[in-house]
Amino acid sequence: MREGNNGFMGITYSDSPCWCELLYAGNDYPALIFRLHEDFIKSIDFDLRNSAVVKDLKSELNLPEFMSDFNNDFGFNGVFKHIVKKDGFVEFLIKIPKIRFFVDEKCGICSGSKQDSSTGLECSFCEGTGRKLCQDWSTAFNISATFSAITPLIKFYKRGSSAPFNQLLTFFTITRKGLQGGSLSGEIGSSIRHWLDHENKVGDEIPEIISTMKTAYEVMLGSSQRYSRSFRFVVRENGRFVAECPIIGTCSVYPYSWEADIREIGYKFSSSNSDDPARQIVMLVALATLSGMVKMSNSSKKTN
Ligand SMILES: [Zn+2]
Repeated sequence: MREGNNGFMGITYSDSPCWCELLYAGNDYPALIFRLHEDFIKSIDFDLRNSAVVKDLKSELNLPEFMSDFNNDFGFNGVFKHIVKKDGFVEFLIKIPKIRFFVDEKCGICSGSKQDSSTGLECSFCEGTGRKLCQDWSTAFNISATFSAITPLIKFYKRGSSAPFNQLLTFFTITRKGLQGGSLSGEIGSSIRHWLDHENKVGDEIPEIISTMKTAYEVMLGSSQRYSRSFRFVVRENGRFVAECPIIGTCSVYPYSWEADIREIGYKFSSSNSDDPARQIVMLVALATLSGMVKMSNSSKKTN
């Protein structure tokens, strides 16, 4: 077991062996892969189901049962699907949920004619499909709230792990109903900062990340075409980045500070308008894709 840093300082000031990873499965199978190291899991000496955080989330958001066994499907309604135990990590698959979708029933506004009867234009309620448009936010809330239950433990974990590589980033979510109160924040570790700073130029957009953000958006909410230019992931000075996605106003993830403190090896990030689960999930997909790219770059350097 390699020792962790002092925890409360996080990975902004020193590296620590990995206890949690967030990766993206790919645009062919849009899903997050969430990996928790067994050393981290062993450190949780209580049943998460009975914790105040889980009880508050469950009653406030009217959520289903929380499954707290890490050897099984995990989280609210078991929305984190247990897939495998591998190399000291327990892996969960979190499929990007469909939130807005058409069903095989006629649109209640145009009665299936696809047109607005008064103007003759395309029916805006069904986007000219003639079919009924439905919304179901329940799975997206289960995902966001499960992260909100586990990420406080991830944020303050300080015991290290036997993983042979370091923690790339950490993140922390808050899930609330309504327009405000939800949030996403975290820390970027030294390898991601170094990769952004040395393998990219200031002002570069990273198309691989923008592409996965768009896919996640489309799976959840439908076509992203009219917002196409509003998805951004831009490299900035000092290994910083800004990510933006266009859901009811622009949601942004940005560094807590643009200046690099001399003691820092990583940095903290924050966000605005990351209130609802869909925005959080798009941004988590961006962070997961970034992690995967840095991981691949690090492993190709080792094998060369
Ligand atoms: Zn219609």
